[in-house]
Amino acid sequence: MTIVNMKKVLCVGMICVDVIQVCDGYPEEDSEQRATDFRLERGGNASNSSTVLSLLGTPCECLGTMASGPFLQFLEKSFERYNIDIQHCRIYEGSEPVIATIVINGRNGSRTIIVSNKGLPEPFLADFKKVNLQDYSWIHFEGRNVVEVEKMVNYIKKEMPSMKISLELEKPRQGLLNLAAVVDLVLVGKDFSIPLGWNDMSSTLDHMKTLVKPSAIVISTWGEKGATGLGPDGEKIHCPAYSPERVVDTIGAGDTFNAAIIHAMNRNLTLKGALDFACRVAGCKVGLEGFNGLE
Ligand code: ADP
Repeated sequence: MTIVNMKKVLCVGMICVDVIQVCDGYPEEDSEQRATDFRLERGGNASNSSTVLSLLGTPCECLGTMASGPFLQFLEKSFERYNIDIQHCRIYEGSEPVIATIVINGRNGSRTIIVSNKGLPEPFLADFKKVNLQDYSWIHFEGRNVVEVEKMVNYIKKEMPSMKISLELEKPRQGLLNLAAVVDLVLVGKDFSIPLGWNDMSSTLDHMKTLVKPSAIVISTWGEKGATGLGPDGEKIHCPAYSPERVVDTIGAGDTFNAAIIHAMNRNLTLKGALDFACRVAGCKVGLEGFNGLE
């Protein structure tokens, strides 16, 4: 029998505002083009993964920071709509929100992202210490804000060594590989691998295997090539992508995959089963605008 753990999953990382313009083809430089669609969405990796976890039926909380001002209510309402707890998020007066301007090429679903971050502080250890670790079954960290995240991970290890911890490696940042060495699940995106010269999933896993703890699981994702995982037994398990009829929106494909893996592993699925589930959910997402329809 599968034991379903209904404690919350905590996602720690970025909350931002996504300004999304859908275009019929990617715009030429110095041209003017009419968008075929426009959406204002709550974004950021931790925020997106929280949305997907909640849609899948895992109770979850997002821990990030937000700026006071015109977008705050918009973000709070969106969290509320998806039943995501934000009780430990710190609100900064007088700061500006992080804004991601995203151009979606409606012909192939590609997303080009321009991020404006005018220095909104990210969560500190002191913010994190306000959570009661007993309330969570799993804590997921976006691989950013590395100095503070390392302190948070060390704090969890000391206070509750049995807590499951996952880490997303999205792009190379100083200190991230040291952090990857101590967590239970490492999710490595292709944008992390490629700059390091790890040109496919298999070589990513070969490199990561030497860095992580023996009991850890590492998963490498590679867009329409799917995902490959490596568990403690050393066997690589590949799962192909499930491509929808038409790819319309790839924003948050990786965040969706990560949420679906956590959802599945938190319900004791095998690595193979979890990979298959996550590729199906992420494949479904890229065929949808936004996340609604995943449930
Ligand atoms: P990111 O959004 O972080 O760049 P990836 O592009 O690696 O993440 O995608 C994560 C997962 O989403 C992939 O492993 C795959 O399962 C799924 N996925 C991404 N793009 C597609 C696509 N075009 N068709 C089907 N599945 C996709």
